[in-house]
Amino acid sequence: MKVGVLALQGAFKLHAEALERLGVEALEVRSVEDFNSSEALIIPGGESTTMSFLLESSGIFESLQERSIAGMPILGTCAGMILLSSKIADGRSDQKPLNLIDIEVRRNGYGRQINSFESDLFIEGFESSFRGVFIRAPLVEDVSEKVEVIAELNGRPVMCRQDSTIVTSFHPELADDDRIHAEFLEMASNS
Ligand code: GLN
Repeated sequence: MKVGVLALQGAFKLHAEALERLGVEALEVRSVEDFNSSEALIIPGGESTTMSFLLESSGIFESLQERSIAGMPILGTCAGMILLSSKIADGRSDQKPLNLIDIEVRRNGYGRQINSFESDLFIEGFESSFRGVFIRAPLVEDVSEKVEVIAELNGRPVMCRQDSTIVTSFHPELADDDRIHAEFLEMASNS
């Protein structure tokens, strides 16, 4: 399976390395052509306002919406969660969400860079905790009944799933633990 990692901006390298460790080919996606060669996609952390702009100017935005609705597996982490959400608070005024998971997020809702933190998370289906690394993370303020909450921190969702879209407000590629990537690949190979 060829899995794309959106590489327009941000923290894509470590996601690609995790995929390679798990034995799948990682493809850095910078154009619609790259995107079309990918069977699943990871949208990494970074700066969601910049990525939002580049998604639209590269033409990937629409293709991504179409293929996701048709069932393409997508994992969005941190800025990726913001891009995939249905509503963004404290975003740039022209920042358009992909609207592929029915959650409302607040950018930098846990505070600014100085407030980045780590916390052990209990993730549904995992036998032991997962180290959550939060960096200027989005805060999930609302989820609809279509969304399954897979992990919470202080009563707030930090990992959610709707159909074949999974989002995390933390950075799983920084945890030195490939279980979330492995779960994503498992879901992708069964879809
Ligand atoms: N705060 C960033 C944004 O709004 C996301 C931070 C991250 O991806 N680590 O885009």
